[in-house]
Amino acid sequence: MADYNLVVRGGTVVTASDAYRADVGIIGERIAAVGENLQGERSVDAGGLLVMPGGVDTHCHIAQLRPEGGTDEESFTTGSAAALLGGTTTAISFSTQFKGQPIRDTLNEYRELARASAIDYSFHQIISDPTDEVLAEIPGLVEAGIRSLKVFLTYDTVHLDDRQYLQVLSVARRTGALVTVHCENYDAIDWRARALLADGRTAPKYHAWSRPEIVEREATYRAIALAELVDQPIQIFHVSSAGVAKEIARAQARGVKVWAETCPQYLTLTAADMDRPGFEGAKYMCSPSPRDVQAQEGLWDTIRRGTIDVVSSDHSGFSYHGDLGKRSNGEDAPFTNIPNGLPGLATRLPLLFSEGVAKGRIDVTDFVRLVASQPARIFGLTRKGRIAPGADADILLWDPTRKVKITNDKLGHAIDHTPYEGMEVTGWAEAVFLRGQLAMQSGKVVAAPGSGKFLARDAYDLIKPTGRLADGFDAAAMAVGPSGKRLV
Ligand SMILES: [Zn+2]
Repeated sequence: MADYNLVVRGGTVVTASDAYRADVGIIGERIAAVGENLQGERSVDAGGLLVMPGGVDTHCHIAQLRPEGGTDEESFTTGSAAALLGGTTTAISFSTQFKGQPIRDTLNEYRELARASAIDYSFHQIISDPTDEVLAEIPGLVEAGIRSLKVFLTYDTVHLDDRQYLQVLSVARRTGALVTVHCENYDAIDWRARALLADGRTAPKYHAWSRPEIVEREATYRAIALAELVDQPIQIFHVSSAGVAKEIARAQARGVKVWAETCPQYLTLTAADMDRPGFEGAKYMCSPSPRDVQAQEGLWDTIRRGTIDVVSSDHSGFSYHGDLGKRSNGEDAPFTNIPNGLPGLATRLPLLFSEGVAKGRIDVTDFVRLVASQPARIFGLTRKGRIAPGADADILLWDPTRKVKITNDKLGHAIDHTPYEGMEVTGWAEAVFLRGQLAMQSGKVVAAPGSGKFLARDAYDLIKPTGRLADGFDAAAMAVGPSGKRLV
């Protein structure tokens, strides 16, 4: 008699703490059992494969609305296909606020665009203009399941000053949301960029010169210090070096609730990649800038120590040839006018497994923790990132020995290039199940567009404030808005 609808048989189950031979029994959309000799109506042979939770990518930009109308090139159809091909079953993308606009309407637009997704998804709400009115909208948004806010401390159109950042931290504290932060010093970058341009240094490689590590380190320290003042948990996005991570480790050691992610580009690329001939370097431009080989090794060290506990993609694809891509302002565009960002949804797991597990820098349980379990835990995705009874049956079958040469045609995204073209990796996704349904097999997406669902995130204990406040006074609770009035 079959006890389960589906049994994944004979593989090595990997969790964030263990790796062991077991069968996984699935009933409907959920894992019902992990054990020996389970009987299912159907079974899948996972012999020789690792059985892991589907990847959870908590930082990717898919179908981002453009201020001038329309969306970026990556749609939820192509973005979710890329995710599945790379072993990822859940993504958190962004709902962007443009200055002067309320947030509710744009979130509805993103919800509509995401209906095409073949993986499960949620959103971070970007706050670029925290007026009294916008801050008053946030509790309703959090209630609707958007339990994380994103702020930028740089970029012309979205950066917040310290006062605005404090306002966002305060409202997050009052409503029980996590705040994620892009840490680079806006004024310092702008000052250096203008000087570089004045000196005729406009090529893509000067992007890195405009934003050396110290502008990230300073902003990281400041982001943490202000979060500590408000007593509001935060996650630092895309840490690029051990020097930056050191600021985070110091705060963690004194009990501040601060988490940190890095991305494969900071473990595999360097600033020298932007110094390729002609305009080619533009393909490698992202912010913060990739550093050097020494910084990469330093980052691995901070991953092993646990300072950095999430590896996301920061997928933010711009094509090389398309009208909306890297050349959208012409090939002579100065580095300040070239879109920032790299495609990475499909290559996140292969790069981390190959550079991390296959090369002996981390073990396979660390891999699961970094790409699935811990991102799910930090962002309150309670049914994701685990192989355990009750969890969603998002299962990744992974061949740890397969060698694959990365080429853009294997990646499924809408972007016409990958910064990793030609790189050989060890380890590749063989098949993916999303809530018990086969979604990808042997490099083919079989999930229909629209089979993913929106994940509303409830309140959870991990992101509760510590209760440690200067003089015991909770300034955030007074809800004094930027105008000086009490917020309703
Ligand atoms: Zn990003």
